[in-house]
Amino acid sequence: MYIKPGAMLGMLGGGQLGKMFTMAAQQMGYRVTVLDPAAESPAANVADRHLQADYLDEQALNELGSTCAAVSIEFENVPAQALRYLAQRCIVSPDAESVSITQNRILEKQFLQKNSFPVVPFAVIHSEKDIPSKADASLFPGILKVSQFGYDGKGQVQIENAASLLKQFTDLGSKPCVLEKQLALAYEISVILARDNHDQISFFPVPQNKHVRGILDTSIVPAGLPDKIIEAAREIARQIAIKLNYTGVLCVEFFVLANDQVVVNEIAPRPHNSGHYSLDACITSQFEQQVRVLCGLPHGSTRQTQAAVMTNILGDLWQNGEPAWDQILHHPQTKLHLYGKHGAKPGRKMGHFTVLADSIEEALLQTRKIRQDLQF
Ligand code: ADP
Ligand code: MG
Repeated sequence: MYIKPGAMLGMLGGGQLGKMFTMAAQQMGYRVTVLDPAAESPAANVADRHLQADYLDEQALNELGSTCAAVSIEFENVPAQALRYLAQRCIVSPDAESVSITQNRILEKQFLQKNSFPVVPFAVIHSEKDIPSKADASLFPGILKVSQFGYDGKGQVQIENAASLLKQFTDLGSKPCVLEKQLALAYEISVILARDNHDQISFFPVPQNKHVRGILDTSIVPAGLPDKIIEAAREIARQIAIKLNYTGVLCVEFFVLANDQVVVNEIAPRPHNSGHYSLDACITSQFEQQVRVLCGLPHGSTRQTQAAVMTNILGDLWQNGEPAWDQILHHPQTKLHLYGKHGAKPGRKMGHFTVLADSIEEALLQTRKIRQDLQF
């Protein structure tokens, strides 16, 4: 049994990931209701229906649960309570349990450690009382990260030594944090997979990700990485999905160290920015896969048809007014995606573009030209 096209699907969250899910679902004949508290959002603007309410609003959840065949999420900060409540009314994927772990860095790190997955050395700082007892000298220089609601490098600071920890902890709002050792990274990769409730798993090609100031800048795929590293990362991601009994699209971000050691950075219970290249370069995108798995349909092929470099477009690019989009569009093998957000603020993800080519060298060259033209 699967959910047939024509049915209404629900999406919690109105951001760009929700928008791209909605567009993929609509392409396949589904309708989508977006629940998001804002009056306007990228996903709500394209959805068939928008419920403007808080994620814990019972009336809105009742409405969503009674009109939708299945509900998914587009960001991890949806209260797990909302998912638990909805699950009594319709299919919810991923489930409240997986989301409650992956939305909290402390629970996520503890889950990884308990199950012997490789993690960055860390300490949990719940309150000032844990300083300095938990802050072992070996963790410095380190990075202090708030356990909840951080994204795109927000809610984290670099810390040189134990002496400045207390001040930085207070500056972050004295909220529960994870203190991580800052590792020397050879590079970063991410594994995006989809798992259904028959334990079928499909993997997307693994991108190499470059971050600037904690925000994803580019994803390159294929990056010519050693097979053994890709296989090791995939195996870890597979085991994580199984341990979480996860259903839906999942992303695991990895650090690769100079000795080829693969370390889990963090887990996202949803499609991921580093998988946006799949929209244009794979037979099935990560969003179509999210729809398929949610509806109990077979996985689509994740085969990549073109080399791809995806570059994020941040609000910084608006410094001198609207960017000259023709600088991107006159490259005929480049795909422009704008999310329709109003208010271009520095660091805010406004869109992305993906350069497609026969070789990754060519895609990188074109990307460099476009960045120069647009004055990235
Ligand atoms: P976010 O939730 O904002 O994506 P991350 O924990 O993934 O936060 O950190 C963002 C980026 O900062 C990472 O992709 C990496 O480039 C860098 N970073 C984070 N933690 C570490 C660390 N322990 N060692 C080295 N670099 C790190
Ligand atoms: Mg991250």
